[in-house]
Amino acid sequence: MKYFDYAATTPPDPDVVRTITEVMEAQYGNPSSIHGYGERAHQLLRRARAGCAAAIGVKPEEIIFTSGATESNNLAIKGAALRYQSRGKHIITTATEHASVYESFLQLQQWGWDVTWIPVDSLGRVTAQQVIEALRPDTVLVSLMHVNNETGAIHPIAEIGKRLKSEAPRVLFHVDGVQGVGKLEAKPASWYADLYSLSAHKFRGPKGAGLLYVRSGIELTPLLSGGSQENGMRAGTENVALLVGMAKAIRLAVEHQPQFADRVTVYRDQIMAFIKEIPGLVLNSDQQGAPHIIHFSYPGMKAEVVLHTLEQLGVTVSTQSACSSRSAEPSRVLLAMGKDAACAAGGLRISLGDEHTEEDVTLLKQAIHQMMAQLRPLERR
Ligand code: PMP
Repeated sequence: MKYFDYAATTPPDPDVVRTITEVMEAQYGNPSSIHGYGERAHQLLRRARAGCAAAIGVKPEEIIFTSGATESNNLAIKGAALRYQSRGKHIITTATEHASVYESFLQLQQWGWDVTWIPVDSLGRVTAQQVIEALRPDTVLVSLMHVNNETGAIHPIAEIGKRLKSEAPRVLFHVDGVQGVGKLEAKPASWYADLYSLSAHKFRGPKGAGLLYVRSGIELTPLLSGGSQENGMRAGTENVALLVGMAKAIRLAVEHQPQFADRVTVYRDQIMAFIKEIPGLVLNSDQQGAPHIIHFSYPGMKAEVVLHTLEQLGVTVSTQSACSSRSAEPSRVLLAMGKDAACAAGGLRISLGDEHTEEDVTLLKQAIHQMMAQLRPLERR
């Protein structure tokens, strides 16, 4: 069985697993304790923070450790909206964001905030001009993802950040960077992002560990009440072992990013060209998107049927994103891109990782070919 679902999660790097195990076994002190056990754990946490900060080009004191990007996104969006509500209650995003952003915006909308949902183009992108035109005097926050987790579409984050900085410097800019790390350059400060979320398991680190970059000077209303860990912004004893593992994983991911992107881009382009040639399949992503994601639809065929047929043929792909794939609803992302209901119900994602080889690509193509031969007679016309 070959795994082509790296955008859902990645196999943890064996070195990262070893490091986590060693820390769990030997350094179980509470980093807030002032005795030797606590001090050693605190030192490890301090080094993990410095390592994560260095990997994305920010200062260690700007890193808040969290349990993953769902928490980082909730904290960034609700924490900023609550903290700065006296400035205004207008917030901006798109309809194609990850559920943790989308649902945070819906919740704020229910609590009385006014939301502008910027429409995306047929490839799922917004322009900097659209963001600027959506601004109002009471706008406090813009939240956009770097790379879309379903389609791989890339928003022009650097250009948007630059324009916001010069035309609306008081508006906070949050970037959900989860799908970009290790695939594209990940430098939030150079994009003038104020807030930036990551999840370790998307770059061969552990699940349940993430971070939020909070630019110096920005305050957030904490979502958890409790101790004063993480600069008072995230209460709760830090999971030192997982965070040390995340620091190792992000260093490796960022170091290998250029070679990784070059290699998988070649595979992505081969797979896209192959799918384009198959009558009945529709490609929903293009070469301007992320190097590791290919998204296509089989209109008239349920995505789950395609997924299970491919699985029987030896390859694992995804329907929608992992977080939404158990829902029976058509993809909100594809509908926002203007795709019809049949396309949105038959969407599949192939996502590549660093273990993939030319042979794996051949295996995948053969499996898609056989899947079509099996399913074509069953198509609903
Ligand atoms: N944002 C994006 C773009 C994602 O792909 C994911 C994970 N699917 C998340 C946020 C949430 O990450 P986690 O599930 O690790 O909290």
